[in-house]
Amino acid sequence: MQYRDYGKTGKKVSLLGFGGMRFAEVDNHDKCVEMMVHAARSGVNYFDTAPGYFETRSETVYGKGLAELRRQGLPYYVATKTFQSEESEIRKEIEASLKRLDVPTIDFYHIWCVMSHEGWKERKNNGVIKTFQKLKEEKLINHICVSTHMVQNNITELFTEPVFEGVLFGYSAYNFKTREMAFDVVQQKNLGAVIMNPLGGGLIPNNPELCRFLLKKDEECNKENAVKAALHFLWDHKPLSVALVGFSNKEEIDLALSAVETYKPRTDEELAAAKAKASKSFEGVCTGCSYCDDCPQKIPIPKFMDAYNRKILGETNQDIYNQLKWHWSLSPEIAGTCTQCGSCESACTQHLNIIERLEYIAKNQPK
Ligand code: SF4
Ligand code: SF4
Repeated sequence: MQYRDYGKTGKKVSLLGFGGMRFAEVDNHDKCVEMMVHAARSGVNYFDTAPGYFETRSETVYGKGLAELRRQGLPYYVATKTFQSEESEIRKEIEASLKRLDVPTIDFYHIWCVMSHEGWKERKNNGVIKTFQKLKEEKLINHICVSTHMVQNNITELFTEPVFEGVLFGYSAYNFKTREMAFDVVQQKNLGAVIMNPLGGGLIPNNPELCRFLLKKDEECNKENAVKAALHFLWDHKPLSVALVGFSNKEEIDLALSAVETYKPRTDEELAAAKAKASKSFEGVCTGCSYCDDCPQKIPIPKFMDAYNRKILGETNQDIYNQLKWHWSLSPEIAGTCTQCGSCESACTQHLNIIERLEYIAKNQPK
């Protein structure tokens, strides 16, 4: 395993981090603990979770996993998050997190998922910064961090807040163009930088051709090579501390570990050349992160957007409908029930025009 500095904190973190949002069997504690131990034995020392993952069950299983790591003398740092911004609510949440995680202190505590400039202003007005500072003084947390899906100037503005020691943001081989400016602030402020969604929530493993631009000419464009290339691409960003992969099973851990083993850094010039080759077709792809999935009309938006990805990836209307019908067992008519309330678009991490896409699906059904 290779390690990098987490900003100015003095902590060394593993290039590969363990994300607790995708366990295939979260209630099978033995299996999940085994996965955590397997990763830690291979040198992974950054473990990220959140109370919202599997309705707190990710934190619960982390509590068991971390206890086992301690028992086996395996070092780790634990990261979790809160959506709350008022002191009493944050205190309630952190108390519950500490109890579930079975630790006295959270190493990296995140102000979770800042989605907009206005949202950040509101959380600040509610006193979130002051409360986090108090938690640090009380040694309930070690480092104050923030996570966001914002892009462009919004992300750089957020990261310049003096209080942050580390940041967590979505970044990958297909959406780097709208977020790469974040690394300038990370570097200037010497922040810890953790990347989430490095494989686009399954999009890269399922569409290896998305990473064709990162592969050598003679390299086969398959799932294994694409995953390795996508992770290598991320690690080539020197200010990055950790690429966080949400693991479903042990095989996925092994694939990511083999990416670490085969990693040979590119120079900055080589990275720039690789980026210049990136296909335009990545723009506008839905990552399946599901942050939009709270439609008052009960439209399963991520599934519809997954089907619409076929269009973005150059496939036909028939492919969109095949994906809806055969993969998701959904009828395209459901897309027509959208009332255009807009709440999904404000929540979308990729800033996609969901309403327009649903309209397209509803109106362009193949005969
Ligand atoms: S805009 Fe349409 S799809 Fe989005 S949340 Fe509102 S009703 Fe649902
Ligand atoms: S539409 Fe946006 S928020 Fe919804 S799953 Fe896709 S990328 Fe995520």
